[in-house]
Amino acid sequence: MLGTMQERPLALPHIFERAERFFCHKGIVTATATGDRRRRTYGEWAERTRRLATALDDLGISADGRVATFCWNTDVHLELYFAAPCSGRVLHTLNIRLFPEQLTYIVNHAEDEVIFIDRSLLGLIAPLLDSFVTVRHLVVIDDGAPTPLPEGHEFLDYEELIAGKAPAVFAIDDENRAASMCYTSGTTGNPKGVLYTHRSTYLHTMGAMLADSVGVCESDVILPVVPMFHANAWGLAHAGVASGADLVMPGPQMTPPALADMIVEEKVTLAAGVPTIWMGVLPALEGRDTSSLRAIPCGGSAVPKALSEAYREQLGLPILQAWGMTETSPLASIAKLTSAMEGLSEEARIDLRAAQGMAVMGVELRIADQVTGEVLAWDGESQGELQAAGPWIAADYYNDDRASQSFTEDGWLRTGDVAVITPEGFVRIVDRTKDVVKSGGEWISSVELENEIMAHPKVAEAAVIGVPPPEVVRAADGLRGGGRR
Ligand code: AMP
Repeated sequence: MLGTMQERPLALPHIFERAERFFCHKGIVTATATGDRRRRTYGEWAERTRRLATALDDLGISADGRVATFCWNTDVHLELYFAAPCSGRVLHTLNIRLFPEQLTYIVNHAEDEVIFIDRSLLGLIAPLLDSFVTVRHLVVIDDGAPTPLPEGHEFLDYEELIAGKAPAVFAIDDENRAASMCYTSGTTGNPKGVLYTHRSTYLHTMGAMLADSVGVCESDVILPVVPMFHANAWGLAHAGVASGADLVMPGPQMTPPALADMIVEEKVTLAAGVPTIWMGVLPALEGRDTSSLRAIPCGGSAVPKALSEAYREQLGLPILQAWGMTETSPLASIAKLTSAMEGLSEEARIDLRAAQGMAVMGVELRIADQVTGEVLAWDGESQGELQAAGPWIAADYYNDDRASQSFTEDGWLRTGDVAVITPEGFVRIVDRTKDVVKSGGEWISSVELENEIMAHPKVAEAAVIGVPPPEVVRAADGLRGGGRR
């Protein structure tokens, strides 16, 4: 027997309209290239977003055309985040730190029709413009940087483009329509495209709002230091809009002192970024009022115990570790301690916070033997490849025949991370499959070694790299028929 409930598409216009309708007086602060902070309400932002969607129509961008962005975290980037998908197009956030040849590859592979570029980033992309085959329009967003416009190309001005346009009406009937795409560069070879749907983004947004995950809510002031081109800014841009939280966008102002100023002056409650960011910011926060902060979600790579503890000592707030991938939207697990864990010894709690945590509701995780594929026990000891399934986990890559290596026969994503899972369901990543070092018949976790090295007070960062022992190198040279290295 089927149930009798309404079937409504889980789509981004609903998220957009919540900010527009309920939270129009709240909004977004953006640090610009000039060092000023621009303030726009969600009311102003929503009106500009609707005009931008009409501008995309007028540019002749196809019904599901790819709209690329080469931008910092800004309010304007957030306009693109919604105007493209809410008008049926696909937002393609370009990673400004990719190697040039990879950028050319992904723009051409995604068949981007238009690229929106922050003026301060023009210099990075200018040498590549001739290599983009499908791009018909280049739009410059003036962020106050004095960068000259490169010669030989026509550039449209963002403000002129949206000026005087009628507000578009948003409607997405099919929740499985693509909303945005992000390329992952975590593998060898060319990056692979992950194509998110409206449904996956909607559900992931709700996942980020759950009290037992990041718990994004209306009273938050969110500083997404994580770039909007890195796996959807970990969902914080969408969750911020959905909940009506204020957003503080750092733009190009990414230095530790600038970030520390934003945290203190804008009374940020939730600041998210990779471990290296928090290593730099900690000294800049010394002696300042950080009492507004309630959580510092951190991921992208393992959070060193020493870093989390340094935050606990200085701010009274340990780092909140989360794990995910571009393919998992990305929020998949989070190291929030359960009430039973809160009763454990300090040492045990420190240890648990250094793990990747429990699957967020909606996500299923398991570990499997890397050779046989056998699903392994959650005993805290068996090590296997971490695999993920759920409505915001990729089922395939966009137009890519390498997918078969990344998904199991029963449809789970093979993450390439090696983990153990405790009986309570806490995941602890011990390595990437390709980073596990085997020595004397024993697996050595480079993550553990790095953590140990970084626990030394004089070491800020460490990377352990496996090097083949001399006898293996000699054997390999012998196979190649050469004796030289
Ligand atoms: P990306 O798709 O670029 O976000 O990279 C995803 C990869 O980053 C994962 O497969 C992990 O190897 C790594 N990663 C992300 N978060 C964590 C974390 N909290 N601890 C350890 N590794 C992480």
